[in-house]
Amino acid sequence: MIKYKLTCKDCDNSFDSWFSSSDEYEKLKKKNFLNCDNCNSLNVEKTLMSPSVFTSKSNIKINAEEKKYQVVKKKMLEYQKFIKNNFSNVGENFAYRARSIHYENKKISKGIYGSATKEELKELKEEGIETEMIPWIKDSTN
Ligand SMILES: [Zn+2]
Repeated sequence: MIKYKLTCKDCDNSFDSWFSSSDEYEKLKKKNFLNCDNCNSLNVEKTLMSPSVFTSKSNIKINAEEKKYQVVKKKMLEYQKFIKNNFSNVGENFAYRARSIHYENKKISKGIYGSATKEELKELKEEGIETEMIPWIKDSTN
C-alpha cells in the first residue's frame, strides 16, 4: 500500500489517500475517479509521497533510482578521468591560458581545463573563444 497526499487545485484542500500501487493511482486518475473530498473537483494532484510505504516493491523502485544516479556518477567520473588524462589542468588561470592560446595561435598538444567564473566565460565567448562547461564532481579519491 502507498499513501499519497493529494491536493485539490480548486479549493487547496489536501487529503491522504491509499492506493495499492502507484499504477493504481495513475489508473484512477486517468479514469477521473479521483476527486477532492471537499469540493468534488477532479482537479486533484498528488504531492510528495508520504513516507509511509510498506511494500518491498517500492523499495526496489527507490534502489533503482539510486542505481541510476550511481551509473550517471560513474560515467561523469570516467569522463573527468579522460579529461584529466588528456587535458592540462591550468586551474584558475583558465581564462588567461585560453586567451594566450587563442591570440598567440599557440600550437598545443593538449587541450586545457580549469576553473573560470561565469563572467570570464562570457567574455571569452564574446571574443570568439569557445569553451565548454561540464559538470564536475569533486572526487575525494583523487
Ligand atoms: Zn477541492
